[in-house]
Amino acid sequence: MKFNTKTIHGGQEPDKAYGSVMPPIYQTSTFAQSTPGGHKGYEYGRTHNPTRNALENAFASLENGTHGLAFGSGLAAIDAVMKLLKSGDEVISTNDLYGGTYRLFTKIFEAFGIKFHFVGMENAAGIESYINENTKLIWIETPTNPMMNIIDIEATSAIAKKHNLLVAVDNTFATPYLQRPLDLGADIVMHSVTKYIGGHSDLIMGALIVKDKALADRLYFIQNASGAICGPMDSFLALRGIKTLHVRMQRHCENGKAIAEYLAKHPKISTVYWPGFETHPNHEIAKKQMDDFGGMISFVTKGNDYDQAIRIIENLQVFTLAESLGGVESLAGHPASMTHASIPKEEREKTGVVDSLIRLSVGIEDVDDLIADLAQALSK
Ligand SMILES: *Cc1c(COP(=O)(O)O)cnc(C)c1O
Repeated sequence: MKFNTKTIHGGQEPDKAYGSVMPPIYQTSTFAQSTPGGHKGYEYGRTHNPTRNALENAFASLENGTHGLAFGSGLAAIDAVMKLLKSGDEVISTNDLYGGTYRLFTKIFEAFGIKFHFVGMENAAGIESYINENTKLIWIETPTNPMMNIIDIEATSAIAKKHNLLVAVDNTFATPYLQRPLDLGADIVMHSVTKYIGGHSDLIMGALIVKDKALADRLYFIQNASGAICGPMDSFLALRGIKTLHVRMQRHCENGKAIAEYLAKHPKISTVYWPGFETHPNHEIAKKQMDDFGGMISFVTKGNDYDQAIRIIENLQVFTLAESLGGVESLAGHPASMTHASIPKEEREKTGVVDSLIRLSVGIEDVDDLIADLAQALSK
């Protein structure tokens, strides 16, 4: 089945009870038993729910995995991955990382004795010098947030295999429409479903997808034992979002390209970060592992003035100033004061998150209106 069919049918079948085409919302905490242990596959809603299971099957199908798991947020999904580890273990992670992931790693899991190395992974071979006998996991985010660096998933996974390490990829920015990490050798794919997969800025959810039964069983155990699941109503909304993922992503990519090109020519802008440019340092890897370049763009204004950046985002009218990304509506954000405020200034500036950096999540509105909006905000 091709991707554009999988979004609609992948892992899905009409409901067994009445044939409803969309899975019913099983809004229940528990399931009746005829005798202790005599049930129809469902006992208790933390462990299993039919609506959530339908969604988990759809996740697995989209990422070419065998098992999917849904969580109450993207961070809850990452939290579950970290619980595969124990005190003394080490993780090598992308340095240009979603702020909340950095916070979870450094403020929660470091206290449990897990050691993190934050590394620029654009050169995959450079990772090898951080590997020792305690290393257990490589955490990749690509494209990175907000600098749009590209990490070679296949090359990194090959190094990890040599040393028997797990590779997890945060695939939130690319979505499986653009990039399927399990096919490139990764072991775990993670999503903030809150973003493109949900697609409508109306839910908070996370996902993990794997292709190995033993690893899936360990994660299902953690999901049930720690309990950070999502509810049946949100599962239904995410399933509904997935049905249009491919058409939304196609438009996000088209609009993203047009806006990146517009911004690159603008006299007030010094740099535009978008992996579709041939001048992007990792463009060749992006071309190899992604099917298109997405709708996430960051840019820096000439002079790198904090107040000017704030003025630009305040003056945008079609773009909404907000955290988050990946919805049908265009959003603009200021990483230094918003998503990345929890990363110390020296740390964030090392990775390029300077004061005038603005990040756009280009939506699926008419691109002429989006460009006109940027033009008027930049002219102020
Ligand atoms: C939003 C986001 C997360 C965290 O997901 P939540 O659903 O907000 O918990 C993790 N990684 C990336 C790249 C994100 O954009």
